[in-house]
Amino acid sequence: MSKKNVCEFDVLVIGGGVIGASIFYHLALQEYAVGLLDKNCIASGCTAQSGGIIRCFHLDSSLSDKAVFGWNYYRNFEKKTGEKCLFNECEFVYFPKKENHNFTLLETKRLSKYILVEWLNACTLKNRFNNLLVTLQHGAVYESQAGYMDPIAVTWAWVRAAQRHGGITHEQTTVQNISFSKNGIYKVNTTSKDFFAKRIVIAAGPHTPSLLDKLGYQHDVYTQIIQVDLRRPTAFPSNQPAYIDDCFELNGRPDPNSGGIYIGYPTNLRVNSFADHLVLDPQHSEKIWDQGAKRFTWVDGSSLIGSLRSADCYTADGNGRVMALDDTQTIFVASGFSGGGFKMAPWIGNEIANLITATF
Ligand SMILES: Cc1cc2nc3c(=O)[nH]c(=O)nc-3n(C[C@H](O)[C@H](O)[C@H](O)COP(=O)(O)OP(=O)(O)OC[C@H]3O[C@@H](n4cnc5c(N)ncnc54)[C@H](O)[C@@H]3O)c2cc1C
Repeated sequence: MSKKNVCEFDVLVIGGGVIGASIFYHLALQEYAVGLLDKNCIASGCTAQSGGIIRCFHLDSSLSDKAVFGWNYYRNFEKKTGEKCLFNECEFVYFPKKENHNFTLLETKRLSKYILVEWLNACTLKNRFNNLLVTLQHGAVYESQAGYMDPIAVTWAWVRAAQRHGGITHEQTTVQNISFSKNGIYKVNTTSKDFFAKRIVIAAGPHTPSLLDKLGYQHDVYTQIIQVDLRRPTAFPSNQPAYIDDCFELNGRPDPNSGGIYIGYPTNLRVNSFADHLVLDPQHSEKIWDQGAKRFTWVDGSSLIGSLRSADCYTADGNGRVMALDDTQTIFVASGFSGGGFKMAPWIGNEIANLITATF
């Protein structure tokens, strides 16, 4: 199909967040005529609120493997895309619940073949991170080469790289309907004009569940609100790692630029609709403060200096859905990583490109 006609594509990607941008790039690299549509601006959705943490350990080995793929990719981002994006190296600790200790030890051992990861007991943890409140039962997984990146910069970098390979973007373009046209081509009806494509990928982030409902596809993804506060301690700890804490349900990372530390706690708030720009909920900030004080010495006395709050697309198993939506293998979905989609985006882009190539 001609790349010159900007309304006709081999593949149309719906959603210009980090996941859509990765897919857009991976398809453009394989010389598909590919378009990217976004109802607002590129990287203005959930991605704009992301903490951008890249770490590998998960309680599900298949998620760990996808994250290792992402970690390797992000560390070599310039080589992969020709675009410079800073990978800020940052230590990471993961605290499992007691009942998951045995699996955690096995998974840490398995992962140690691919990345630098080890189990630290409570004593070692206390010595290494003196701002941590740990009791004897609190061991943790330690990744010394985890990190974080700027999710908006990464998304734009993928978009620019895809454009160099002929990819075409249309912003301020809301997809309203998809219908079968003829000869294996779909018509995608939008607020600006109609587009035509042989394959379609829906990567609409937290809008994915409502878009799938509107288009009449069965699915098991849902939308949930996330809030991560930025708190400034009275003295910035010299050795604050990024962290996921299943004991106190906390997550976050240091933010040296602001002199603050991100700290989040699940809202468990499922929604059917939401405003694109959410403001912090002070009641939730109170809960975050309460929980945070159980784990970190610096929380007490710290001040709230900002917040990231957005909806994201969830699945009950957190495994995401990167797959064809029906037997025709022509319409695909890529979403549902439950607040962890940034680190998975390289794997998702690569996987969708493979799935689509298998159908052409
Ligand atoms: C506070 C917070 C912190 C996070 N921290 C981390 C982290 O540290 N590490 C990590 O790995 N993950 C993190 N995540 C999760 C990660 O940011 C998300 O999973 C990821 O950004 C989702 O990307 P996306 O492309 O699916 O969604 P989005 O960025 O929301 O992109 C979807 C796009 O689709 C567009 N769209 C929607 N409907 C339509 C339509 N009908 N037509 C056209 N366009 C449409 C939207 O405008 C939007 O731009 C965090 C999330 C939040 C909220």
